[in-house]
Amino acid sequence: MKSTMMSVPLSLNTLLDHAGRLHPTQQIVSRLPDKSYRRHTYAQWHARTQSLVSVLKRLGLRKGDRVATLCWNHHAHLEAYFGIPAAGGVMHTLNLRLAPDEIGWIAHHAEDRFLIVDDVLLPLYKQFADLHRFERVIVFPFSGAPVATQAGDPHAGIPAIDDYEQLLRDAPPCDGYAAHDENDPVAMCYTSGTTGRPKGVVYSHRSTVIHSLQAALPDHLGLSARDCVLPVTPMFHANAWGVPYAAVMLGAKLVFPGPHLHPDDLLDLMQVEPPSLALGVPTIWLALIQLFEAHPGRWTLPQGLRSLVGGAAVPEALIRQFAKHGVSVAQGWGMTETSPLASVFYRKPELDPVLNDDQWFARRALAGVKVPLVDMRIVGEDGSECAWNGTDVGELQVRGPYITGAYHDVPNDPDKFTADGWLRTGDVAAIDAWGYVRIADRTKDLIKSGGEWISSVDLENAIMGHPAVAEAAVIAVSHPKWTERPLAAVVLKPNQTLTAAELRDFLAPKFARWQIPDAFEFIDAIPRTSTGKFWKVRLRERFANWVWPDAS
Ligand code: ADP
Repeated sequence: MKSTMMSVPLSLNTLLDHAGRLHPTQQIVSRLPDKSYRRHTYAQWHARTQSLVSVLKRLGLRKGDRVATLCWNHHAHLEAYFGIPAAGGVMHTLNLRLAPDEIGWIAHHAEDRFLIVDDVLLPLYKQFADLHRFERVIVFPFSGAPVATQAGDPHAGIPAIDDYEQLLRDAPPCDGYAAHDENDPVAMCYTSGTTGRPKGVVYSHRSTVIHSLQAALPDHLGLSARDCVLPVTPMFHANAWGVPYAAVMLGAKLVFPGPHLHPDDLLDLMQVEPPSLALGVPTIWLALIQLFEAHPGRWTLPQGLRSLVGGAAVPEALIRQFAKHGVSVAQGWGMTETSPLASVFYRKPELDPVLNDDQWFARRALAGVKVPLVDMRIVGEDGSECAWNGTDVGELQVRGPYITGAYHDVPNDPDKFTADGWLRTGDVAAIDAWGYVRIADRTKDLIKSGGEWISSVDLENAIMGHPAVAEAAVIAVSHPKWTERPLAAVVLKPNQTLTAAELRDFLAPKFARWQIPDAFEFIDAIPRTSTGKFWKVRLRERFANWVWPDAS
């Protein structure tokens, strides 16, 4: 017997046209470099995206060609999100926070043919232009200044330079989208390469549509056409967690912060365009809530704001602090490789009679519950699957229709994929009987002390629960007797004082004595990665020559 259902391919183009037709008056707001706001309706955005499709076709884009973007979060970047795939290309977001050499290496590895770049980022482009020759560089006049165009000479390796707005103005009417299969690629992102070279993950129409549907569900982001979504997460970081696609699918309002990501800028923006859902890594929200509380009355936080926070462990103290101001924080877990939403916090109703408020807060600090279409398992050191009992810890492995099964142009590595087809995440985790995932650590961040493992994440979360502490990161430092011992790098809030002994007393009720860091170093700031997470590699370098007083 055969199914009688139509086999219409899943397609981003369907979402694009649906949004243009069904939500023509909904708004897309972008903050410009001069801090003013530009507003487009979905109808205008749809028309501009269709013009981009015509432009790319006219410029000779072929099926599967990569078009890189080097852009902040704004409406034109969203045009690229949909226009490049609709023209048959693959959008490749370049991470503007990486070193120029690394960006050039990535563009070359991906064989990017064209580049769409913000005018304000041209100085960055020039620093890696020699490492990869784009055929065309399309400059988006984000600042409003005129674009200096040039004809280009392919034989001499000189790219043509075009003005994005001029190209759109001159575009012929769109005569349709490129034919495609649902498994054809739409976008690619490189992992940040904290170990080894960055690796490319290539998303398909199918994976992106399924991810959008799943991310939007009520227990997940609970997205609707009534939402106003603020993606602080950069559009080059796992496609802003795929949320722009989901927001367009439902016709939600989108507010893009442009290059203004400092906490005071974000708070200012929230006064003008109050979001109902905001996304970002914990470091963004830590800084924002501290500034907010340091200036009572200067800003208000939108009532009922929901915030999806992930990419790194979210301290319980942060969740509680936001709750005091009426903001609910839901933690999600994922990776560039997982599109990324693989698990997210929601309140399982069967626990309502069992858990009190304090216990719910503790649960919110876990990495949520796996979403329906993603399979998860925990594999112990002996290779056997761990029970979901909340205590058996092992490597988290995942599988699903929007989880990558390979990396672009890299032979499959058994360290990354198992023989039976699961992605090895490199995260150490436990899952409890209700399905809540606890990320104990990244494999490489665990601290091995005297044969026992210590979770840096648990220590960091506890230290950040101290009212005088702004930020903390815990690393392993080698020790002649214990192999490794934990060292805590701590940043205090302004005008606060705290000693190592006081912190040790604060941690004593929560941890076994051998788990408590032997050293507390008070520093000015924790180094950040290109995606805004604590950069433990840099911290480890900084404390590489550490000498323990009791080491002899
Ligand atoms: P990178 O951090 O290398 O830039 P990704 O952005 O893909 O790469 O990050 C994926 C990793 O981020 C995960 O493997 C995990 O270690 C960490 N991570 C993501 N979400 C969480 C979370 N809620 N709690 C703890 N760690 C998380």
